[in-house]
Amino acid sequence: YKQAPATLRDAIDAGRSHGDKICVTYEGERLTFDDFFQSADRLAHHLVHHHQVKRGERIALAMRNYPEWMMSFVAAVSIGAIVVPLNSWGRTEELSYGVADSGARVAICDSQRLGYLREALPELGCKAILVRGTEDEAGPDASEWVEPWSLSQQAPAKMPEVEIAPGDLAIIMYTSGTTGKPKGAASTHFAVAQALHNFEFHAAQSAMANMPTVEKMLASGFEPATLLAVPLFHVSGCYSVFLLNLRGGRKTSIMYKWDPARALEIIERERITVFTGVPAMTLALLEHPGFESADTSSLFALGAGGTACPPHLSQLIYDKLPDAYPGTGYGMTETNATGSSCTGKAFRLRPNAAGNPSPIVEIRTVDEQGQTLPPGEKGELYLRSPTNVQQYWNLPEASAATFKDGWVATGDVGYVDEQNFLYVVDRIKDMVIRGGENIYPVEVEGVLLAHPAVHEATVFGVPHDHWGEEVVASVWLDREQTSEEDLREYLGQHLAAFKVPAHILISGTELPKNATGKVLKKAVRDHYLAGLQ
Ligand code: ATP
Ligand code: MG
Repeated sequence: YKQAPATLRDAIDAGRSHGDKICVTYEGERLTFDDFFQSADRLAHHLVHHHQVKRGERIALAMRNYPEWMMSFVAAVSIGAIVVPLNSWGRTEELSYGVADSGARVAICDSQRLGYLREALPELGCKAILVRGTEDEAGPDASEWVEPWSLSQQAPAKMPEVEIAPGDLAIIMYTSGTTGKPKGAASTHFAVAQALHNFEFHAAQSAMANMPTVEKMLASGFEPATLLAVPLFHVSGCYSVFLLNLRGGRKTSIMYKWDPARALEIIERERITVFTGVPAMTLALLEHPGFESADTSSLFALGAGGTACPPHLSQLIYDKLPDAYPGTGYGMTETNATGSSCTGKAFRLRPNAAGNPSPIVEIRTVDEQGQTLPPGEKGELYLRSPTNVQQYWNLPEASAATFKDGWVATGDVGYVDEQNFLYVVDRIKDMVIRGGENIYPVEVEGVLLAHPAVHEATVFGVPHDHWGEEVVASVWLDREQTSEEDLREYLGQHLAAFKVPAHILISGTELPKNATGKVLKKAVRDHYLAGLQ
C-alpha cells in the first residue's frame, strides 16, 4: 500500500510528471501540465524573490474559476505560504473581511475582484498581483499597490527551495456558509495530503466496483476528463476535482459558473468523462431540455454530494445514462472533505446512504448530553481521521465547539448500520419538532424532488402556537403542471400526515443558493417569517 505524501507540496509535485498531457481547459484556452507548472514556478519565484513572501505568511486568492486560480494556488502552497481562497462570489465587504481576517500581505486577483478591493488593499497594506484582466477597475493610484503579472509571458524560473514541515498550515479553506457566516478551516499540509491520498483510494475502489463501465470507457478511447462546475474556493472543487486530477494527470475543464446548457456543450466538446456537483446540479443536467439531444456518450461517472441526495437520483442516473454509474459521498470542510463514499449498484440499492466510511475515518454518534451511543444508534456524527482540521482561523469559540479531542462534531444527525453503511439524516439545526414528533426536512425534500414538476425544494420549521413548530416548504416548479393542492395530495401518499407541510410556497424561479450550490434555507425561512408580520 502506497504511502501518503508527507506534505501538500509533495502531493502536488506528483503532477509534474504528466508533461504534455492537457491539464486544464477554460473556454478556448488549453494548458499542458508542463505549461501549468512553468507558470506556477515563475509566480512562486516572483513571490519569494520580489515580494519576499516567507513560510507561514498568508496569500489571498480573489479570483473566479480561471486557470490562473489553480496556478496561483500551487505557487503559494509550494513556497510554504498559507493560501486563503476567498469566496469570489463576495463583493467589497466579504472580500475585504477575508483579507483583513487572514492578515494576507499579498492578494492574487482578477480584475473584477481587484476593483472590489481597491480601497481595502492599500489601506491594509496588502499588495495585489493582477493575473487576469486589466487594471481598469483599480482606480487612480493603482501602480502603487497593483502589479500586473502575466502567467504566460515571463522568463522561465525555478521553483524556490523552501523548507515545509507536514505540520505547517497550508490552507485556510472557508466552509460553504449554509448555516451562517463561513468559517475558515485552517488545515495542515499533512491533513490535506492525507485527504488527497484517501480520495485516490476511493477512486481506485470505485473503478474496481464498476469495472464493466470503466472497461467500456477505456475501449472507447476517452481520456479521463472532469467538468469543474463548482467553485475552486471550496473543498469539493479544490480537492476532489482540481488537486486530485493534478496528481493523477487528468484533464480538468473549468466553468466560470454553473449553467446546465453550457455544461452540456463542454461535455460534448471536451469529451468529459466525469461530472460531479451538488445533487441539484446533477438533476438540472439530467433534466435539461437539451440533455436528450446532446452527445453525452463520453460520460461514465456522475456524482452528487455536498448535501443530501434525493433518493430517486441514483436510479435516474442509470435510467438516463445506462452506460454510466452514479456516485455520492459525505464529507465536510472540517474533515478536508473526507468521510464516506458510495458508487454504482451499492448506491442504487441504498439510495439514502452516503456510502461506507473511509478506512481511515472513525465514526461515532453522540447524544444531546455528549455521551457516545451504542453502534447503529442515531445521534450527532463525530468524525476522527488524519485528515481532520484542527481549528478555525481566529474563531476560538467556534473551534472549541467543533474540534474536540481530535474529533470533529459535525452538527449532522446520522448512524452507521450493521453493514457499515453511513446514513446522514439531516443537520441537527434543521430538524423540526412538531407536537413532539421529530421531522427531518431532508426526507420531505426528497419526496418533493421526485415529483416531475418540481425543480428545487427546501423544507423548514416555523413557530406554531399549538404544535410548537409547523412544517413549511418552498418549491420551484412548473406552475402549469401542478398546483399546491395536488402537491400536498402527492406528499400525503408518500409521507405520514404530520410530515406534510402546512404551507407550500410556490415559486416560478430558482431558490437562493450559495456558491457551492446549496439552497440557503435560512434565507428562505427568514423571508417567509418576515412575510407573516
Ligand atoms: P457552513 O458550515 O458554513 O454552514 P456547510 O456545512 O454547508 O456550511 P461544507 O463544509 O461545504 O459547509 O458542507 C458540509 C456539510 O454538508 C455537512 O456537514 C453536511 O451537513 C452536508 N453534507 C455533505 N455531504 C452530505 C451528504 N452526502 N448527505 C447529507 N449531507 C451532506
Ligand atoms: Mg458546516
